[in-house]
Amino acid sequence: MIVVMKTQATQENIQAVLDRVEAAGCKVHPIVGAERTVIGVIGDGTAVDRRQIGRMKDVENVMPITKPYKAASREFKPEDTIFSVGGATIGGRQLTIMAGPCAVEGRSQLLEIAHACKEAGAHILRGGAYKPRTSPYSFQGLGEEGLRYLAEAREQTGLPVITEVMDPALVPMVCEYVDILQVGARNMQNYTLLNAIGRSGHPVMLKRSMIGTTLEWLMCAEYILSHENNRVILCERGIRANETETRNTFDVNAIPVAKQLSHLPIIADPSHATGRWEYVGAAAKAAVAAGADGLMIEVHQQPDQAWSDGRQSLKPAKFKRLIDELRPIAAAVGREISGSSQVMNLNGQQPDSGQKVMVARV
Ligand code: PEP
Ligand code: MN
Repeated sequence: MIVVMKTQATQENIQAVLDRVEAAGCKVHPIVGAERTVIGVIGDGTAVDRRQIGRMKDVENVMPITKPYKAASREFKPEDTIFSVGGATIGGRQLTIMAGPCAVEGRSQLLEIAHACKEAGAHILRGGAYKPRTSPYSFQGLGEEGLRYLAEAREQTGLPVITEVMDPALVPMVCEYVDILQVGARNMQNYTLLNAIGRSGHPVMLKRSMIGTTLEWLMCAEYILSHENNRVILCERGIRANETETRNTFDVNAIPVAKQLSHLPIIADPSHATGRWEYVGAAAKAAVAAGADGLMIEVHQQPDQAWSDGRQSLKPAKFKRLIDELRPIAAAVGREISGSSQVMNLNGQQPDSGQKVMVARV
């Protein structure tokens, strides 16, 4: 349930509500701060009597959260989640472009492509150091060595970096090197991993599994949010269907659906969604038109030599052209693509502005 306090609610009366919720065996802690206090009571709500809370001083309204995902729902937080990571903003009017190779293959390969992506207009650098491959005999990633190159690329370009983590035990170490963790499609429902990432408090992008429903996906986001880690990004990367001409089927529906049900920002990954560089541009344009908050695109200097996913990787020049082609589409839906990661929040919004939200679990 959600307890909305009056705008001028006194600290004493807010505390009284928190105490009542805690007395019912719930844990209470603040999430965001601003004008008015909203207390989210997450769980089945049976431990707390709604009518009793509704009669308390300075309580304006008490509403149930009808969805099984609570902190991820728009009912819980009506305004869009916007946050900044290393100079880039996720969510809001400015679209966020993440780009880079599927895998970190070596120091010079990464540094070269990182500069090329920045030059083309990317705001965040991607690169896998731990690769979830179908075959155990395929390249599995450079591991910590790859993370060191990502950190060096960030230092040189100023771009924040995102990388996939697969092993819960490695989460603290990966956090030392990168700005955003990525949960890959194959690990969407790896609850041990989601809990470890939730506990880390590190920003994370949660990819939708190729067979995951929206409900399952948002419940996975809820795992992370349940640890009060609020910097969660959703990512639609294509789902499995009958089609064999493309690697996956880009579910463009997922964008407006997720936007309606959740306040979390959503990034589209047209590279994995199509699996072929020829179709990446069209899917990217559809994603922006549908309201995505940004894109993740695989870019490689020599796609035919890439150690993974070369078939779906754009060369830097094509990537740059695509960003230029996306600008008018972004403008048509009231969005912008800034030329650099430095000026991201032109609408003057403060990250996570809005109501003060506190959470209790029952
Ligand atoms: C990737 O981003 O390189 C990746 C492996 O993506 P996904 O988990 O969506 O397949
Ligand atoms: Mn890939």
